[in-house]
Amino acid sequence: MSAAVIDGKAIAARVRADVAREVETFTQTVGRAPGLATVLVGDDPASAVYVGGKQRACKEVGMVPFDRRLPAEASFEQVAEELERLNDDRAVSGVLLQLPVPAHLNGPALTGLISPDKDVDGLTPVNAGLLSLGRPGLRPATPLGVMELLADTGVELEGAEAVVVGRSNLFGKPMAQLLLERNATVTVCHSRTRDLREVCARAELLIVAVGRARIVKRDFVRPGAVVIDVGMNRLTPEEAGNKSGLVGDVDFAGAAEVARAITPVPGGVGPMTIALLLRNTLQAARYHAELETLLAEVDGEPA
Ligand code: NAP
Repeated sequence: MSAAVIDGKAIAARVRADVAREVETFTQTVGRAPGLATVLVGDDPASAVYVGGKQRACKEVGMVPFDRRLPAEASFEQVAEELERLNDDRAVSGVLLQLPVPAHLNGPALTGLISPDKDVDGLTPVNAGLLSLGRPGLRPATPLGVMELLADTGVELEGAEAVVVGRSNLFGKPMAQLLLERNATVTVCHSRTRDLREVCARAELLIVAVGRARIVKRDFVRPGAVVIDVGMNRLTPEEAGNKSGLVGDVDFAGAAEVARAITPVPGGVGPMTIALLLRNTLQAARYHAELETLLAEVDGEPA
């Protein structure tokens, strides 16, 4: 193996420590801590684990967690009412609806009800539009996490040939837009891409988010490329060759022979997502505090 392994766990720990310091200052200055609300509908065990992780991380950096749970049979109106309550609650800086929601509910429509200024997952049409227009807003945490990994690894993005495999609203599209913002030359691949291997092999920066174990092989990787593996696929420990049974979308052993740097799974992109969710919550809390100060100034002005 010649590639440097990008240590997402260590980089995420640094981001969380920075957020914790900034939350302390924020809380002293503003007089209240930022609050993060998670809304979980139903009892999907994986979703419950993700929500638990977000709640714990929130407490660790000094934020206030709001844990809202609704039964699997909750109606659209009931979930909408919960989101509206959180939108109106001054103690809540960020709101996220854990996806996927049960099949009878419309996840994107519900997500769209979250106030854009509290949309810490960056998934509402307003925030997606702001990103697409290159204007400030809340960005999805996983692509933001990848940007942080690239910055920490010293990857030069200006003019770089970047290939993103996957075009989901959650990851692929916002990832491509963040790279464009930094002047990379971006190609986006998907299930209808004619020759995936050939397109990937052009990339100086290859980012893969498909959800298929080890779909990207050694010969997809240009020698000296930086490879970011977003995929999380569960196999048996025997198939995976590790205890967790978790593998990425990239054949790590093969790709690491030719790449310059590569993220492992687990321990690469995964830990970054919660870290950047916390940073987004702090960003939202700062926005609300600034808005309150401005409104107070306006109220205090003689008419
Ligand atoms: P998704 O919504 O299912 O999107 C998958 C994308 O891959 C689609 O754009 C699809 O193309 C494309 N695709 C499917 N088969 C392909 C093929 N054979 N060749 C090329 N492209 C193909 O998934 P997602 O939400 O973006 O997530 C992708 C992976 O990243 C999953 O493993 C997920 O668990 C992981 N993930 C991890 C984190 C984290 O925190 N670490 C966060 C988000 C996602 P079409 O559009 O044509 O269908």
